[in-house]
Amino acid sequence: MQTKEKQDELLALFLLFASQVEGRIEKEVRPILRLTMLELRQLISEISPEGQFREFEWREIQPRALPILSRIASVLRIQIPPELAVIRPEIQKAAAKYVSQPVPAVEPIDNQELLKKVVIGGITLNQILGSPGVSNRLTINMAKDLDRMVRTSLFMERPTSEIADKVVRTLERNGRVISQIRKGSYANQILNRTNNTIAAAVWDVANKTAREFWGDIAAPNQKWMWLATLENTCPVCLPFHRVIKPNLKDFPALPAVHPNCRCIVVPVV
Ligand SMILES: [Zn+2]
Repeated sequence: MQTKEKQDELLALFLLFASQVEGRIEKEVRPILRLTMLELRQLISEISPEGQFREFEWREIQPRALPILSRIASVLRIQIPPELAVIRPEIQKAAAKYVSQPVPAVEPIDNQELLKKVVIGGITLNQILGSPGVSNRLTINMAKDLDRMVRTSLFMERPTSEIADKVVRTLERNGRVISQIRKGSYANQILNRTNNTIAAAVWDVANKTAREFWGDIAAPNQKWMWLATLENTCPVCLPFHRVIKPNLKDFPALPAVHPNCRCIVVPVV
């Protein structure tokens, strides 16, 4: 097989493994996220329908958003590590095949260690998802997003019902209230935040697993090449596509370098 074909195949495999794992985590998180949004909608509805006291009312009830939102981080904390454990041997197998080496024996990493190993934007996943409770970055950032949206809407004198709709719209089907996550809503913002966290965690582990394996068996003069996924490459990574460096540390940073980064650095074979 030609080198370029091998590279394309490797990247396609990594993307396939990642999307399978991400899809499974997202599926587990979705019902919790919907429920969370319905509860926040309920919370917002406690504010008077209109009038100038609503800012004070919001300040009073705003702290209650934190424990409601913290359930999303809790479910991610439970669901992400086992899926990362699933992707590691798949990545190792593909990485070994790429350099025509035998598949290494997979050493399992426990869930707690995996949470500490994953780094997104310079912060460990363990810090992002926190220890059980409300004081973790993801929950705090989600609460800040909500506070910003509510305050802006109050400043613009929007009626409370409109703010509740901006959290998430609801409709009744067979007597059941269900949420409808629309573009531009707070629910959609949180869905994106959640999915970005999942995708970044999965890609970080895929990258590290492959790099550790290749690094262990690399010859001293091993050269490395940056590969970007061309369909959705951002301007940050595009200039690095197919760039070769004599050492890994010659790259200014290693993927994943931004939330939706789908790059890998591979040994030149
Ligand atoms: Zn990238």
